[in-house]
Amino acid sequence: MRKGKYILDLNDLQYKVIKLPWRRKFLHLFFWLSGTILISFIYGTVFENIFGSPKEMKLQQEVENMKLQFSLTGRQFDNSMIIINSLKLSDDSRYRPVLNMEIIPESFRNPGFGGIERFRDLNGYINSDLMKSYRIRVEEIRNMVKVQEESFNTIGEKANEWIREMEYLPRISPVNVIFRRGDGLTFREIHPIFGTSRWHHGQDFSTPYGTEVFATGSGKVIAAGWNDGGFGNYVVIDHGYGFQTTYGHLSSIKVSKGTDIKRGDLVGLSGSSGSSLGPHLHYQIDLYGRHENPLYYFSDDLTEDEYFEMIQTLSSKTKFR
Ligand SMILES: [Zn+2]
Repeated sequence: MRKGKYILDLNDLQYKVIKLPWRRKFLHLFFWLSGTILISFIYGTVFENIFGSPKEMKLQQEVENMKLQFSLTGRQFDNSMIIINSLKLSDDSRYRPVLNMEIIPESFRNPGFGGIERFRDLNGYINSDLMKSYRIRVEEIRNMVKVQEESFNTIGEKANEWIREMEYLPRISPVNVIFRRGDGLTFREIHPIFGTSRWHHGQDFSTPYGTEVFATGSGKVIAAGWNDGGFGNYVVIDHGYGFQTTYGHLSSIKVSKGTDIKRGDLVGLSGSSGSSLGPHLHYQIDLYGRHENPLYYFSDDLTEDEYFEMIQTLSSKTKFR
């Protein structure tokens, strides 16, 4: 290492150390220090202003990551809204109309979350507005999901009630449909025995003697026995919801008063008891005491096999045939 400056003394041809005066030494030191400070300054101001310090660069990276996260979250919000809106569409246009329920008003689904005071804790940040808008979207989605969940619960309850009601309403033909006679309308007929004119309500089926007669809906037997009014051996079932069905002119009765009955259960066998000239079933539906046209209550496009398959499926007693 060099310890100082040397000069060749031409007198004795030897190198001798140059002894710098104190002031020169001080000046050297001053220039050296100034240079170092200047370089540090240039690095600190110019370089860092352009490229940033390592700490700033790291922060910048984090900000970029956060922006990306926000943008991805925004996209997830959009996807969630698409799903919620499709559920809402089914709710509004399918489930509620079918079950005869009122549509949920838009103001209830999305009451608006614009209150400035609600998001006071988010004030004072560079991204306050962005954060507020995200908070609003989260609350919107949460509310819509909550409303939709409650709506589906209500629809489920209503649907179960509806299924139960459907089980009780008279919905099928009481005998194999191929025996149907007439159009089910109320009309004036001549009494087959007394020859007088009277009203006929309901649907007659010309059946072979002893044909199985089935309950057309679930309910309770409220009459089973002899009817003096002309129905002979008859059965009346109360289905609830205002509905009653009557099965007349039976040759034998297979249920008794008070029996709980399921759709498709055997009620009796057809015959010609009461005011009847030949074996047939008189079938009548009354809704709150008014006669209904039974033809509106079952489809008559089933084949004989399809009809008995349906009865077999419906009945609680599966071994009757
Ligand atoms: Zn009749």
